[in-house]
Amino acid sequence: MSQGFSEPEAGSDLAALRTRAVADADGNFRVSGQKIWTSYGSRADEIMLLARTGTAESRHRGLTMMLVDLDQPGVERRPIALAAGREELAEIFFSDVPVDRDRVIGAVDGGWGVAMDLLQYERGNYAWMRMAATASHLQEMLQSANVSGADPLAAVAVGRAYLSLAALRARTSSTLRKLAAHEAVGSQTSVDKLLLSSAEQDVLDASLAVLDTQVLLGDEPHDARWRDEWWYSRASSVYGGAREIQHSIIADRILGLPKEGSGGR
Ligand SMILES: Cc1cc2nc3c(=O)[nH]c(=O)nc-3n(C[C@H](O)[C@H](O)[C@H](O)COP(=O)(O)OP(=O)(O)OC[C@H]3O[C@@H](n4cnc5c(N)ncnc54)[C@H](O)[C@@H]3O)c2cc1C
Repeated sequence: MSQGFSEPEAGSDLAALRTRAVADADGNFRVSGQKIWTSYGSRADEIMLLARTGTAESRHRGLTMMLVDLDQPGVERRPIALAAGREELAEIFFSDVPVDRDRVIGAVDGGWGVAMDLLQYERGNYAWMRMAATASHLQEMLQSANVSGADPLAAVAVGRAYLSLAALRARTSSTLRKLAAHEAVGSQTSVDKLLLSSAEQDVLDASLAVLDTQVLLGDEPHDARWRDEWWYSRASSVYGGAREIQHSIIADRILGLPKEGSGGR
């Protein structure tokens, strides 16, 4: 199962998406359009697709979530390689693809609410999973190198990484408990997402300081793996909603700060 939200002109501005789902007289749909940056999109059997069912101007009010089989005529997938070479992402093209009405999730034109509900789990649960992977990277790095006070730059980088991870762990464990208790955490998970980006990037930046140029230039599989991880950590401030967008959500919906340009301070 993959997640088909982003499009070429609709990433941060998701409500601008243009993939269309047109209903026939029986309420079944035909989908046409393009998705991009779909994780595991080359291999997934199905995609949870957000499509426009309202007018072009309807923004978030005219979107519907539906499950679409990817192994059917009219679907074309093109893999996109990550910076490290792994083909983990894909762009997916839909040409008049049939979707039964019982594959709609939630209400027709009610897809925005479904997407926002899903995103709180993506930013909460996923942050916990990545936190565990990032903690094991830090541990592995410290086992394969001798970090001492003799290299103050490496020591500072490791200290920063450790603090970022500790903050992420404290935050996400509390978020997970709320989600498990079916409490709606909504935009609060933007804080988890920001802490996740910092932790992943601080830990992998520390690997450059600790493991040194060997990681940048070495030919051994061990070096290539650390390089892959470093590249992937750059994406953590983009996937699931870019860092700047999380800042805006926190400013608007959690802190209630005045909008930019409104004259307030
Ligand atoms: C590894 C990876 C996996 C992904 N997996 C999926 C997936 O499975 N399914 C899916 O649907 N999508 C996926 N995405 C896409 C991801 O959600 C988008 O890349 C992200 O939402 C940003 O959209 P964009 O790439 O169009 O960038 P843009 O929206 O064009 O943003 C570009 C830059 O401009 C900034 N910016 C844009 N608007 C504003 C604003 N209003 N205020 C301040 N700054 C702004 C952004 O912060 C960013 O730095 C994935 C992305 C990556 C990197």
